Amino acid sequence: MKEPKVRVGIMSGQEIRFCFHGDYLFGEACFTGEQLVTYSSEGIKWKDKYYSELLFEPSGFTESFFELYEVSIGIGFHWERRENQSFQGALKFIVENGKLLVINLVPLETYLISVISSEMSASASLELLKAHAVISRSWLMNKLKSVNGVLVGKSEKPQFAIQDSQLIKWYDTDDHLLFDVCADDHCQRYQGITRASRPTVTQAVTETAGEVLMYEGEICDARFSKCCGGAFEEFQYCWEDKKHPYLSRQRDSKKCTELPDLRLETEAEKWIKSIPDSFCNTTDQRILRQVLNNYDQETINFYRWKVVYTQDELSELINRRSGIDFGTVEELIPVERGVSGRLVRLKIVGSKRTLTIGKELEIRRILSTSHLYSSAFVIERKGDQFIFYGAGWGHGVGLCQIGAAVMGEQGYNYNEILLHYYIGAMVNKLY
Ligand SMILES: [Zn+2]
Ligand SMILES: [Zn+2]
Repeated sequence: MKEPKVRVGIMSGQEIRFCFHGDYLFGEACFTGEQLVTYSSEGIKWKDKYYSELLFEPSGFTESFFELYEVSIGIGFHWERRENQSFQGALKFIVENGKLLVINLVPLETYLISVISSEMSASASLELLKAHAVISRSWLMNKLKSVNGVLVGKSEKPQFAIQDSQLIKWYDTDDHLLFDVCADDHCQRYQGITRASRPTVTQAVTETAGEVLMYEGEICDARFSKCCGGAFEEFQYCWEDKKHPYLSRQRDSKKCTELPDLRLETEAEKWIKSIPDSFCNTTDQRILRQVLNNYDQETINFYRWKVVYTQDELSELINRRSGIDFGTVEELIPVERGVSGRLVRLKIVGSKRTLTIGKELEIRRILSTSHLYSSAFVIERKGDQFIFYGAGWGHGVGLCQIGAAVMGEQGYNYNEILLHYYIGAMVNKLY
């Protein structure tokens, strides 16, 4: 197999300004310097001519790059801003919904170096970076395969299952229609060569080139989250009801492999209120810094955490976040838990109505102004207060980033790290 090319959707707009640094080919002709492409009802306008699409290929791949002006990054987040960004590979313009869509066609390994440089902290160990390179590559190749010919929406749309008095939603990344991945956090953050890639990232990607996680001949859907809380969750408890054997329950430890049945309320309570030994049970700032972005580092208590609401606060929050009028929330009753103790279904008993909600992300969304760390929590009532005792950060399926960082520090290599989190999977070299 040859190294695939990735089609990355970078930006859209009515008018795109950019610059070719080095020579770019349009058909047989060669161009360099400042360019302007605009959208009009007659098509894509460039140098006073109209086209249905435009494709510019670098003439000497390693030296040429193009610079796009005013690219939006962090769309919808508090750090949203515009900046000029540079990219290697080919540049393509197409029309989508009355706008120009800018696509970068880039070899997969080049794409990965950029993605891992922007997503991972500079202090991450080589083995952790290698593990992440294999995961990102697997995630992407799994996605590339699923795109073919399937007509799907562009936004993150919740999937529904409504039965009687239940509202069960789960969110999954919808595929893009006209390209493979977008450049923003929705897929993986990609900023081309705007920021210099770090030598250890290049080394991690090069040394694992072409390697993906496979299970029974299929590329794995390599999910990961920040901190499992000591036990891995299974895929079907967070997303659609499909079992992936390599995403199975297990203790996040090699010393202690015993794991109680956390689907049982009494066991879940004992587990969440204790501090069991596991790889991700750490408050070592030096290790946490490898995984967390700067703005996350104020928080170090996510292996076990606590949140307190008064009854009024909780009622207001649930009514506002769910858009459903529950009246005064009187009780929150766990209905179903996954194998990591994460709640899959939670019954909300209000003075006006009672409804069971799920799955984990919807529960986290409704019970916090942003998102609760995880849905692995137990609730205690104390007078007017609802006290949430919780474990972990994120969905807990697949690789636990903090656990993996600790394993890297303890001398495990990337293969051992991956095979600990993706049970029964294998690392295969595809090209
Ligand atoms: Zn996307
Ligand atoms: Zn963990």
